[in-house]
Amino acid sequence: MEKGNISVQADNIFPIIKKFLYSDQEIFLRELISNATDATTKIQTLSSKGEFKGELGDLTIDIILDEKKKTLTIRDRGLGMTEAEVKKYLNEVAFSSADSFLKKYKDDANIIGHFGLGFYSAFMVADKVEVDTKSYKKSGKAVKWSCKGDPKFQLGEGSRDFRGTDIILHISEDSTEFLQKARIQSLLDKYSKFLPFPIRFGTKTRTEWEGEGEDRKSKEIVEDNIVNNTAPLWKKKPNKLKEDDYKEFYQELYPHSQEPLFWIHLNIDFPFNLTGVLYFPKLNNSLEIQKNKIQLYSNQVYVTDDVKEIVPEFLLLLHGVIDSPDIPLNVSRSYLQSDSNVRKITSYITKKVADKLKSLYKKDKENFESKWDDVGTFVKYGMLSDEKFYDKSNAFCLVKNTENEFNLFDDYVEKVKATQTDKNDRTVILYSNDEKAQHSYIESAKAYGYDVLMMNNVIDNHFMQHMEQKNAQKITFVRVDSDTVDKLVQKDEEAASVLSEKEEEKVKTLFTDSLGDLKGGTIELRPLSPEDHPVMITKPEFMRRMQEMQMMQGMKMGDMPEMHNIVVNSNHPLITDKLLSKMSGDKKERYAKYLYNLARLNQNMLKGEEMSEFIKTSLEFMK
Ligand code: ADP
Repeated sequence: MEKGNISVQADNIFPIIKKFLYSDQEIFLRELISNATDATTKIQTLSSKGEFKGELGDLTIDIILDEKKKTLTIRDRGLGMTEAEVKKYLNEVAFSSADSFLKKYKDDANIIGHFGLGFYSAFMVADKVEVDTKSYKKSGKAVKWSCKGDPKFQLGEGSRDFRGTDIILHISEDSTEFLQKARIQSLLDKYSKFLPFPIRFGTKTRTEWEGEGEDRKSKEIVEDNIVNNTAPLWKKKPNKLKEDDYKEFYQELYPHSQEPLFWIHLNIDFPFNLTGVLYFPKLNNSLEIQKNKIQLYSNQVYVTDDVKEIVPEFLLLLHGVIDSPDIPLNVSRSYLQSDSNVRKITSYITKKVADKLKSLYKKDKENFESKWDDVGTFVKYGMLSDEKFYDKSNAFCLVKNTENEFNLFDDYVEKVKATQTDKNDRTVILYSNDEKAQHSYIESAKAYGYDVLMMNNVIDNHFMQHMEQKNAQKITFVRVDSDTVDKLVQKDEEAASVLSEKEEEKVKTLFTDSLGDLKGGTIELRPLSPEDHPVMITKPEFMRRMQEMQMMQGMKMGDMPEMHNIVVNSNHPLITDKLLSKMSGDKKERYAKYLYNLARLNQNMLKGEEMSEFIKTSLEFMK
C-alpha cells in the first residue's frame, strides 16, 4: 500500500469544493458519468482503430446504490487506468485542473454549477472516494486509489477483473439525499437522458398481461432500468425521420405538453459542429417565459437549460435541444457573449429559423395562416429584437384583417395604398384591437371602402410602432375609433355641410349647454354621411398611445383624464330635422343628451349609475 500527498502545494481545495459549490452539489453525478462516458468512447475508438484487439463486450454504465454501506458507485467498462495513469490523472491532472478552475471561478458559482469541475466534484457529497480501476492494456493490473477529502491519498491493489473503472463514493452525513433512489433517478433523468451509452440504474418491474378472458393473468417482469435513450432524435438524419418521430420526441423532452406547431432540425458541421431540434410551441398569445426551456447538450451530455448567451433572446420562446461540443463551456458569461464561435452559432440559428418560416409559408400558406396567432407572437417579437431576423421577415410576416384574410405585410401596404394614402403621402393602416367593442367603427370604415386589420396580439402596440419607424413614417397605424371615418385618412377635400353657419352655431350651443360635464371631451361639428351615426365619440390616436404608454409605466387609468372628442354629424337627419325643429328647448336638450349617451354606450363608456339613468330615459322615450 502506497501513501502520499496529492499535491505538494499547501493549498487545500477540499474545503473550497464543499463551501462554494453547495448550491449545485448535484452536478457531481453528471461529472462522473460523463467521465465514464469519455472512458467508454475512448475504448470504442481504440478498438475501431485496431489499437485495442480484445472484446469490447457490453458497454453499459452502471449506477449502483448501496443504502446499507452508504455508497454510490459509478461503474464503467471503459479503458480504465494503469497505476501510473491513476497517479498522473487523478493526483495531478484532475487535481490541478480542479484547483485552477476553482481559483478562477470561485466567485461565480453559477459557472461551476453549469460546467462542473470534473472528478473532484465527488468530494462535494462524499467524505471518501475510492477508484477501483483496471486498464485495457495487457500489463494493467487492477489498482485502487482512495482519498478522504484531504490532500493525502492511498494506492493499493484493486479488485476488478475486467477492464474499466468503479468510482465509489462514500456519501457524507450531510449529503444523505444522494442515497435516495428517487433523488438519483431524477438526477439521471436530468443529466443522462440522452447519453450515447446505456446507463443502468438497478432494475424495474413491469406488469404484463397474458391470456384471454378468464385465463387472463398479470405477470411481473423484472428488467434492467435503463434510464437513457442512447440515440436521441437530433442525432439522426432528418430524411430518416417522420412527423410523428418529432412529436414523440417532444413528449420525451417535455411530458404532457401541448403538441408543438412545427420544428427545425439543426445539423451543421462547418465552421462549427452543432445539432439539435427546435420546436415552435403554442404560445397562446402570451410572452411569459415558457417552462419548457431549450436544453443545451455537449456531446449528448446535458449542460444547462440556461442558454441566454447562446440563443438570441426571442428564440428563447422556442423549445428543444441544442448540442454542440464547440460551445466553450469552461468560460465566463461575458466571454461567451463575445466569443466568435458563439456569435456564429447565434446568427446561424436565427438564419435557420427565418429560412424555415419562409419555406413553411411558401409550401402551405393555409396551414401557416391557421397557426399565425401563435407564430405571429414569436415572429413579431423576433422582428422587434433582432435586426437580422427583421431583415428576413418580409417573407413571412403576415397581417390579418377583420374578414380573416391574410396578407404579407408588404403586400398589404401595397394593396391599401390607393385608397388609404393621406394628403401627406402616408399610407394609413387602420386597425382594431377589439372587434366587438369597436364593431360600429369597423362597419363605418368598411362602408367607406377602407380595410381594417386585427391587431390584438400582446405585442402589437410595439410592433406597430416599430413598423412605423422602420418605414420612415411612410406608413402610420390608426385605430379605427380614433376619429370619424372621413378623418381617419386625412385628405384635402372637405365635405359640404347642409347646415348654414348660423344653424351650426345653434346645434353646437345646444350640445354644449345640455351635456354639462364632458369629462375631458371637446365638441366638434362635422358634415359626415347621413348614413353615419348622429353623434360619435372618438379617441385620438396620439392621445391614446400616450395613455397606453403611461399605463405600461405603471400609472393607473384613473390618474389620467380620459381624452376623447365628441363629433356631431351635421348631415344626419336627426340633427338637421329634429334638433332644428320647433321642439321645446327643454325637449331638445334631452334629445341632445340622449344622442350623446348613445355614442358613449357605443364606446362602452356608460357604467353604473349613468347606465341605469340611460335605461330609465330610454324607457320614458318609448312611452
Ligand atoms: P476531465 O474529465 O475534464 O479531463 P477530470 O478531473 O474529470 O477532468 O478527470 C481527469 C482525468 O482522469 C481524465 O481526463 C481521465 O484521464 C481520468 N479519468 C477520470 N475518470 C475516469 C474513468 N472513469 N475512466 C478512465 N479515466 C478516468
